[in-house]
Amino acid sequence: MMKFEDTKTAYSLKTDNELFRAYLLFKMFSNHFLVRLGSKLALFVIHLGLPLEHLFKKTVFLQFCAGDAEEDSIAVVNSLSNLNVSSYMHFASEGQKTEQGMDDSLDRVLETLTISKQNNALPFAVFKSTALGPVDLFEKKTSGIALNEEETRAWDRAIKRINRCCEFAKKEQVRLLIDAEESWLQKAIDEIALDLMRKFNVTAEPFIFNTVQMYRKDRLEYLENLINTAEKENFQIGIKLVRGAYIEKENKRADEKNYPSPICISKEATDQNFNAGLILILKNLKQCELFLGSHSEDSTARVIQWMKENKLPNNHSRIWFSQLYGMADHISFNLAAAGYQVIKYVPYGPIKEVIPYLIRRAEENTAVQGQTPRELSLIKKELARRKKVKAD
Ligand SMILES: Cc1cc2nc3c(=O)[nH]c(=O)nc-3n(C[C@H](O)[C@H](O)[C@H](O)COP(=O)(O)OP(=O)(O)OC[C@H]3O[C@@H](n4cnc5c(N)ncnc54)[C@H](O)[C@@H]3O)c2cc1C
Repeated sequence: MMKFEDTKTAYSLKTDNELFRAYLLFKMFSNHFLVRLGSKLALFVIHLGLPLEHLFKKTVFLQFCAGDAEEDSIAVVNSLSNLNVSSYMHFASEGQKTEQGMDDSLDRVLETLTISKQNNALPFAVFKSTALGPVDLFEKKTSGIALNEEETRAWDRAIKRINRCCEFAKKEQVRLLIDAEESWLQKAIDEIALDLMRKFNVTAEPFIFNTVQMYRKDRLEYLENLINTAEKENFQIGIKLVRGAYIEKENKRADEKNYPSPICISKEATDQNFNAGLILILKNLKQCELFLGSHSEDSTARVIQWMKENKLPNNHSRIWFSQLYGMADHISFNLAAAGYQVIKYVPYGPIKEVIPYLIRRAEENTAVQGQTPRELSLIKKELARRKKVKAD
């Protein structure tokens, strides 16, 4: 089993100072109190425009974001590419509420696609559906509530924006991922994704990838149905498989509104569901392309094992391993060194806009069963290795 222990390979892009900064950050993330305090402070500082913005920029921003604008991020993309790691870029601004904001989000996706088509290191782009249409309409559509005339017009504009992204992506030959969101919005997103796959995935390779969150109890059935439909109707499926990012929100809402939580009962149940989803996709590689969005060493190792047992080459064109920029470098760079297709999610944007994304990263790393202890122990190991090399 691959161990991902080679820290020299994992951190070869990081200077000693950058590595030490990462160590301090993850150390801070392991403290709930500091993360809560830091998150509140970040929002406060940004809101008031205080000069402390510089502090966030030099620390958490540098760890998880590539820069303020696309052009700044290209340097990061190119350095990853030198180590055989591809990227997909995303303007990480969230929660657009106005029509103007949604038009701006569309422009951002189109700009990213334009940059991606000129760079082989950027084979994918991504969009979040609720950045292109009103959240409340995704909720109404998901619950089967009919839209009034004005809402219908707003919904049509959202669908137009999404189609515009896909048409442009297809023209520029850049594949598009659709992010997964909360369960009370997701059915509408799944229906759009299905329409898009029917329209754009009728070529030899899928262009549109929907995201499937395996922490949801019903997702294995969703995957089985999708594969059956695609087989019958003869289109290809792209799947970004993840565990799911909104567990607390999901359980809280289910509790408040008194319906059974859609989320698996335990981490173990999520893992079982996730692994079953993995194997289902791998067994159907003729119909599906797998984009594994995970920092789990166990899940990654399972895919590698399956590839070995089934004699698939490491660089199989239908299997991608993806991690977030600034996290799980030990997985990304060790996989890339062994010839697997690896792609990092590279967010960018002005610090004010990306703060919610950064807070989510900090909170995720604070979770009890999170990956921070592993990140910390590997960074420590590498710092010690470098110290020894210098001493010898
Ligand atoms: C490239 C990439 C793209 C992503 N895109 C999306 C996206 O579009 N939408 C989205 O929602 N998320 C997305 N994520 C985040 C992802 O869903 C996970 O939150 C994150 O990756 C942690 O899961 P893991 O597989 O890396 O690792 P692990 O540490 O093995 O798993 C942690 C996950 O397990 C689940 N879990 C933890 N405790 C419990 C419990 N008690 N009961 C049930 N389940 C539990 C949760 O989903 C938690 O996030 C993405 C992640 C990556 C790397």
